[in-house]
Amino acid sequence: MTKLPAFTNEPYTDFTIPANRAAMETALAAVRSKLGREYPLLIAGKRRQAEAKLPSINPSGPAEVIGVHQKATKEMAVEAIEAAHAFFRKWAATDAEERVRLLLEASALLKRRKLEFNAWLILESGKNWAEAEADTSEAIDFCEYYGRQMLRLHSPEPLLQLPGERGHLRYMPLGVGVVIPPWNFPLAILAGMTVAALVTGNTVVLKPSSDTPTIGAQFIDLLLEAGFPAESVSLVTGSGSEIGDLLVTHPKTRFVSFTGSRDVGLRINQLAATPQPGQVWIKRVVAEMGGKDAIIVDAEADLDAAVQGVVASAFGFQGQKCSACSRAIVDESLYDAFVEKVKAGAEKLTVGPADDPGNYMGPVINRGARETILSYIEKGKEEGRLITGGEPAPGDGYFLRPTVIADVGPKAAIFQEEIFGPVLAITKARDFDHALELANDSEYGLTGAVYSRNPEKLRHASDQFHVGNLYLNRKCTGAMVGAHPFGGFNMSGTDSKAGGPDYLLQFVQAKSIAEKVS
Ligand code: NAP
Repeated sequence: MTKLPAFTNEPYTDFTIPANRAAMETALAAVRSKLGREYPLLIAGKRRQAEAKLPSINPSGPAEVIGVHQKATKEMAVEAIEAAHAFFRKWAATDAEERVRLLLEASALLKRRKLEFNAWLILESGKNWAEAEADTSEAIDFCEYYGRQMLRLHSPEPLLQLPGERGHLRYMPLGVGVVIPPWNFPLAILAGMTVAALVTGNTVVLKPSSDTPTIGAQFIDLLLEAGFPAESVSLVTGSGSEIGDLLVTHPKTRFVSFTGSRDVGLRINQLAATPQPGQVWIKRVVAEMGGKDAIIVDAEADLDAAVQGVVASAFGFQGQKCSACSRAIVDESLYDAFVEKVKAGAEKLTVGPADDPGNYMGPVINRGARETILSYIEKGKEEGRLITGGEPAPGDGYFLRPTVIADVGPKAAIFQEEIFGPVLAITKARDFDHALELANDSEYGLTGAVYSRNPEKLRHASDQFHVGNLYLNRKCTGAMVGAHPFGGFNMSGTDSKAGGPDYLLQFVQAKSIAEKVS
């Protein structure tokens, strides 16, 4: 393979340019004309139907059906694992450069169809235009980045050569990977997890989130169009609680790559740890889970920059990012001014259907999520002082006003538990050390940020703020592939560092070969 140019992030489409806005409107109209179609499963390279169906809807207007999917039965899930196992040797034997070539072809297709994928994201997950553009761009980045990382793994560092011996190290694929992504980055995370497993030579059984299966089905079609063999990747839609255990515990499942909530991640980890009859390996589990991410605003912070960073991190995509700021921990000297400014910032945010580019916040993902978030808000009203929001926003979709609750103590449920919605808790700190202590008072450890002009405090936070992704004087969302390898500490997961140079190592095993030479 000719040397690839160095990796760079996919540039974002600028929607302030009228021609780009018009093109996005055209893509939305084109995708709208395809809504409501039925999507089959893909098992052992064959398209399959199931009796029970799984419709996905537009959370901005739940009457709009985005796609009708199959609810795979348990038997079908088993078939998918067995078929992936049967094809594994063939796929593993494919030249690594050929797998990379296919991945770069998938990336090229995604670049060409970027606005179309944005439109699916806007309609099925309720992302605004900019968030959808970032999601699709990140999926492209994962393809480009992991392609280059696979080439690096394919030519490992030379080993020490002993006299009379020739030695080398090879990275081999593991086997069948069950890939279980969440709905909140329905393209980027799904694509990143899937292609990382495929490009390293594993076969994949993909079970997308039941909230966003259409995006999963569209991505699988794109992989096939790029030339990936249909047997290398199965699409098994259906309820995680019905078929998830079976996919995880099947003895031929070699590894599980999961991103989602803490409880489901822990369950998968536990189930995968128990060997099944006929199983001859210890299953690997990559589990990236929730967050309760804090931004510290120090006495020496640039207050306006901090307010801007907190508002963007708390309410971007309606607070439904694992990296979202859900706790602002603010030095008492700035506290009152901070609360006032965050209130003003939150009240400026427009809420409504995600396909209208005038709206900053779209809906939350579904009715159940809205109810859960509202019940946290009710609890929060008792645990602190409601500053703004606290109620649904008008419209047919699952809209909520950005909500800010101040004077929240560290034992409060809204300080400790992941809400996964547009709810920000603000807590007062006596000084910087107290702020760090509060920020670390969490079972999670995913992202965090510190605003301060004092380099000594920033150094101290770099040592002591116990999170996988720490940001200094910037927001705590928006990790970029290649620049911010992503993954959390503690109950936030296995710290796999997606989009970083070590990520692919989780999908391979190293074989050391030493040959006696005369
Ligand atoms: P979730 O409810 O845990 O679901 C994630 C996936 O697991 C879905 O595909 C779901 O399928 C499936 N699932 C559910 N029960 C299962 C079971 N028993 N066995 C196997 N799979 C099962 O999470 P979510 O609501 O989709 O996503 C939000 C969560 O993801 C938040 O906690 C967020 O912080 C976290 N997240 C973390 C990261 C990170 O990098 N750390 C990134 C993004 C999101 P169904 O949809 O069919 O139930």
